Amino acid sequence: MWRASIFTLFPAMFPGPLGLSLAGEALARGVWACETFDIRDHGLGRHRAVDDRTAGGGPGMVMRADVVAASLDAHLTLDDPRPRLVMSPRGVPLNQSFVRQLADGPGVAVLCGRFEGIDERVIGARNLIEVSVGDYVLSGGELGALVLLDACVRLLPGVMGAADSEREESFENGLLEYPHYTRPRDFEGVPIPEILLSGDHARIAAWRKAQSEALTRRRRPDLLATAKPTKTVPVPPRAPKGGLMPQEDNDIPAFGAPFACVDAQDGTLTVRHKHEGHWWRFEVADKNGRLQLVHQAHGAGESGHAPSESLALDAYDFATLEARRKGWVD
Ligand code: SAH
Repeated sequence: MWRASIFTLFPAMFPGPLGLSLAGEALARGVWACETFDIRDHGLGRHRAVDDRTAGGGPGMVMRADVVAASLDAHLTLDDPRPRLVMSPRGVPLNQSFVRQLADGPGVAVLCGRFEGIDERVIGARNLIEVSVGDYVLSGGELGALVLLDACVRLLPGVMGAADSEREESFENGLLEYPHYTRPRDFEGVPIPEILLSGDHARIAAWRKAQSEALTRRRRPDLLATAKPTKTVPVPPRAPKGGLMPQEDNDIPAFGAPFACVDAQDGTLTVRHKHEGHWWRFEVADKNGRLQLVHQAHGAGESGHAPSESLALDAYDFATLEARRKGWVD
């Protein structure tokens, strides 16, 4: 069963619309599960406070790192293979290949922010992957989480009919979908394109492909630059058993979760991170009880230009978690 664990201040928002229709039926059949954890259960004091003023001044409140961490820690074990996500407008943009990877995995744990957001430290300390549903600001992460869950759940085996799941949809091949038509044959003087009624499957397929390409070129030329068939890779952002580096490209999620493992000899951590088709390798060492990035390399061993700061930070955060797992730091 594909399991979603949602950390939120508004558990009543789940499953919400996902309790209806395809997702709702799949939920009832046990294809997936959606459990919610109320972050306020770990709030502080008589009022169960979960937020406080933003350090450095300015308007708005921020969710406290200690409260959020207590909530996550109460319900997620370190060996939980599911990716830990936090909804955030600064995050990795959610797209169909990311969704497919999540759907192919064991499920997700999703933290929903509110107010101005969440104390930065808990994102690093708990190795959360920030995920954005678009370049706009919502009032909370819950609707974003519902969007993410809906997109994943419809891909789970047995949720859509076979006919539907075999269909080439928008984004699945890096293109927007061709237009659809159904009855009536004539709608307000506009007929269905003749070719679709011809019964000639080869010509119909060619027409649809051409429509897809033309539509994508006109509306979303950015998609053409990166268009490639979706490759499905397993998702778990965790060190494999025994701490050895996975050698197969396929073992590593492509959407930005770094992959860490422990080098048994000198106790350094190596983190591989795929970014824009290149492999980055980070080595992180334990210096005086704190992990530090000591080396970064690009591609197969040669040293290259420095990766972006956020990339290094993501890898660093992940390595910190691995070190905790190994009991090096607490
Ligand atoms: N001050 C923040 C926005 C906070 S909005 C900023 O400017 O970046 C409050 C919460 O809503 C966030 O913590 C996040 O969990 C959620 N949220 C808002 N917009 C989102 C988006 N586009 N994608 C995913 N989550 C979003």
